[in-house]
Amino acid sequence: MKLQDLHFKPFISEEKILDTVQQMVDTIAADLKDEMPIFVGILNGSFMFVSDFVKKYPHPCEVTFIKLASYDGVKSTEDIQRLIGLTQDLTGRTVVILEDIIDSGNTLAEVHRIFKNENVKQLLIATLFYKPDAYKKDFKLHYVGMEIPNKFIVGYGLDYNGLGRDIPSVYQLKTTQHMTNIVLFGPPGSGKGTQANLLKNKYNLVHISTGDVFRYNIKNETALGTLAKSYIDKGELVPDEVTIDMLNAEVEKNADAKGFIFDGFPRTNAQAEALDVLMSTKDSQINTMIELEVEDEILVERLVERGKTSGRPDDADEGVIRNRLKVYYAETAVVADYYAAQTKHIVVNGEGEIQEITERLGKVIDTL
Ligand code: AMP
Repeated sequence: MKLQDLHFKPFISEEKILDTVQQMVDTIAADLKDEMPIFVGILNGSFMFVSDFVKKYPHPCEVTFIKLASYDGVKSTEDIQRLIGLTQDLTGRTVVILEDIIDSGNTLAEVHRIFKNENVKQLLIATLFYKPDAYKKDFKLHYVGMEIPNKFIVGYGLDYNGLGRDIPSVYQLKTTQHMTNIVLFGPPGSGKGTQANLLKNKYNLVHISTGDVFRYNIKNETALGTLAKSYIDKGELVPDEVTIDMLNAEVEKNADAKGFIFDGFPRTNAQAEALDVLMSTKDSQINTMIELEVEDEILVERLVERGKTSGRPDDADEGVIRNRLKVYYAETAVVADYYAAQTKHIVVNGEGEIQEITERLGKVIDTL
């Protein structure tokens, strides 16, 4: 869900919220059964909570509201104003503050200041949501519905710049804002690297080529390079475990990326699954897998030609080139089915002029 510039994901369902409200009602009703409590909602955020709460409350009660302003945008601030105050005499009464959320506790400090001179019998604090990691005060919280992590939420009365209060469930701010992630797929020589290099500039994406990362490691004689070289020189796949760890590290290096073009990864279903897991930890996903389709003999021709200048041992020998194609069809081609099952598999003709192919790919990416 998008509210203005920010993306949010579903976090707490309406059903779970209402169950929690019911539990709070049961506990508070049991504690206060002999009282006629005054429930005080803190506007605006608590209006939905207070409404559901008092509808469920099984004994007579009074309800009123005060209005404070405690935050600006997504961050709590120290600056709290009282906009609408109390209008009735609370001497000797049991007052229960109903808050939608307690994070820094600044609002609560103001609430205590307001009630200090009201001579109430007791002041009890009940909050539907509580962020223990954000709470900086010592005031006792008598009733807590649910503890939640210190991430910005909207819905069920809570807003982002005035929006989202009307939503009956709760959404959480996505840690990574909207990314475009593309898997560029196809056999060796289909032009993935060439096209990825052109597309990354056009779409401001980070290009990760696992083949390039392996070659960088080989050149620098790292342990990873030494391990990978034995497979690469024969045209075989480097084991999944090694490749997946390396890919995860490359993605982590680019925490601010607007998205990625993956080139040469995933090459097995295990890698595709690992990539989905990685993307979901970033609150993101692979948007599409684009397969470049090219005739085998054209592939061999291209790779032999590239071998004259690339300095790549795996391009220098036609036997190794043909083995790479064999490995592609035997082990990697199935990855297309993995994405097809998620309706994310698109085939693009990879034959023709470089620029022509870039345009074909651009047309697909522009629709994402
Ligand atoms: P490339 O530059 O994509 O043609 O990759 C060159 C070689 O690196 C491949 O033939 C494999 O030996 C190895 N390699 C690259 N990416 C992967 C991967 N995702 N899984 C396993 N091996 C890979």
